[in-house]
Amino acid sequence: MTHHAISSPVLPGATIGVLGSGQLGRMFALEARRMGYRVHTFSPDTDTPTGQVADREVVAAYEDLGAVREFARQVSVVTFEFENVPAATAQAVAEIVPVRPGGEVLHIAQNRLREKTFLANQGIPCAPFHHVRTLSELESALAKLGTPAILKTAGFGYDGKGQVRIHNRSEAASAWETLGGEECVLEGYISFDREISLVAARGINGDFAHYGLIENQHVDGILDLSVTPPLLGTEQVNIEAEAIAITRLILEALDVVGTLCVEFFLTSDCKLLVNEIAPRPHNSGHLTLDAHVTSQFEQQLRAVCGLPLGSTERLRSAAMANLLGDLWEQGTPNWASVLALPNLNLHLYGKEDARPGRKMGHLTALAETPEEALQRVQAARHALLSPSRALLRLLQ
Ligand code: AMP
Repeated sequence: MTHHAISSPVLPGATIGVLGSGQLGRMFALEARRMGYRVHTFSPDTDTPTGQVADREVVAAYEDLGAVREFARQVSVVTFEFENVPAATAQAVAEIVPVRPGGEVLHIAQNRLREKTFLANQGIPCAPFHHVRTLSELESALAKLGTPAILKTAGFGYDGKGQVRIHNRSEAASAWETLGGEECVLEGYISFDREISLVAARGINGDFAHYGLIENQHVDGILDLSVTPPLLGTEQVNIEAEAIAITRLILEALDVVGTLCVEFFLTSDCKLLVNEIAPRPHNSGHLTLDAHVTSQFEQQLRAVCGLPLGSTERLRSAAMANLLGDLWEQGTPNWASVLALPNLNLHLYGKEDARPGRKMGHLTALAETPEEALQRVQAARHALLSPSRALLRLLQ
């Protein structure tokens, strides 16, 4: 166990290192720069969402430990925005500067089997699961769990990638082949009533702060909409305290210093099951940038720098809609039409190549009620597909 308490805080003016270079790192870097920090990012890619707004973009393979050490020597503390950084990379950094959260958290969160085993050992409820290494293990796991079930690769999965739904037992062989015969986890299918998440943070001295529940809707395994506060039925409102207790237990058991998100299924009989842990800011928490006093990214910065956590007070109800590359299929979205709408913020991640399913940006709408915020953000996203005035003039 590391003794966080004895290290002195990393103050504004210092340089923070970020492993990974996607939109999470970008939003982190923008918050860090607002507070007077410098940011260096490390990943194998160039002109990245994070690199575009960082002071320095280091381009090298995660396995290039020489480059990793050189990167670590230039910064005061290292955090990550991408949890699939190899363990050896985090270890090489940790020999030079603190990595927060620590490599052990990465190790558990980057593998579904380790994550589920950790949850089960802590007595935290999650979907029933079996470890599957061969087709015959898959067949016997299906016999025990029944169908429908979901087969997920143990390692390196996100946004619904590396998973297939199995509707009946005759589909076992094709599902096994689809995932390439890799080590997997077979999960029982949960017919949930809602999906919710809790974004929380833990400081270096063990302080804890959370943002309240956020409700999420996914399409094809990718987050589509988030809204806070969630639109819970009267019989469901009591689950918030339980979600907070579970999240706090996870942060403490893993000795996390930083922001972490727990995704839950809420079943129709009001049971909470943990689906996934993300040991970093999360897509469902993007609305904290616009709706809360301290965003999930500023909170990560404060935590990893050993500073006090900020207020998580929510100022307005809010809803977030993801903007996937699919929106670009008919040409550039109509930005002018959405920017004419009130109580709405546009966030774009600086990605040039709008591939279907790729997260390009998001919209956040603020309102007096969550229902109104949700309606506003959906209408706004729809307006992006309306023909632009310039195009209308051309067609006249
Ligand atoms: P994941 O990448 O594991 O978070 O899965 C992405 C989405 O797929 C989830 O947010 C759910 O909407 C759905 N999903 C994943 N696992 C299950 C399950 N065991 N039962 C029902 N739906 C699931």
